[in-house]
Amino acid sequence: MKQLNIVMFGAPGSGKGTQAKRMAEKYGLMHVSTGDLFRHEISNKTPLGMKAQEIINNGGLVPDDITLGMLRNHLEKHAGSKGFIFDGVPRTIKQAEMLDDKSMFPGLDITRVIYLHVGMEEVQSRILKRAMIEQRADDTPETVKARVENFFAQTMPLVEYYSSRDKLVEIDGMQDIEQVFSDICKIIDTL
Ligand code: AMP
Repeated sequence: MKQLNIVMFGAPGSGKGTQAKRMAEKYGLMHVSTGDLFRHEISNKTPLGMKAQEIINNGGLVPDDITLGMLRNHLEKHAGSKGFIFDGVPRTIKQAEMLDDKSMFPGLDITRVIYLHVGMEEVQSRILKRAMIEQRADDTPETVKARVENFFAQTMPLVEYYSSRDKLVEIDGMQDIEQVFSDICKIIDTL
């Protein structure tokens, strides 16, 4: 059977992580968050983690080749999976091109990209709220600002990249969590 590979796309704080976890559970897919992979490397103090730590704490983006190299290792370890829910990757056009490059990711086809659309003010207030709960080192007001700016400058162009390839579906991320999940399930059930 063909793998089902979904990219969850949205600003930091759009709810993509929450939804990705629920989707993975409901459909038996593997949730892959590059942010979680980096945090794991950092807590294990690996060379990759040490390299990424400062960039992440400043709200920047880790270089594409490092990020996708780490992702490739992870996917290779879970090659038998029914499919993947990508959360936080790709974040640049270059990353999307690398994911589509069959010499780097043989057999990987992105089935759909689900865009959780949330307004900019809502995004800022959601991540600052999350910062108080999770105490993430990269959730200070300055880094939140940098991450949101990076999202609009570097990640938003992916909307055009995937819509021109007929892969993008947009969902209103301002609705409550249950309604967003129900909209997502309707899309996945047609695939
Ligand atoms: P996240 O948990 O997805 O918000 O990711 C936390 C941080 O990890 C981001 O702010 C980036 O610094 C870094 N990061 C995660 N995914 C990527 C990616 N695909 N490309 C570059 N940096 C990433």
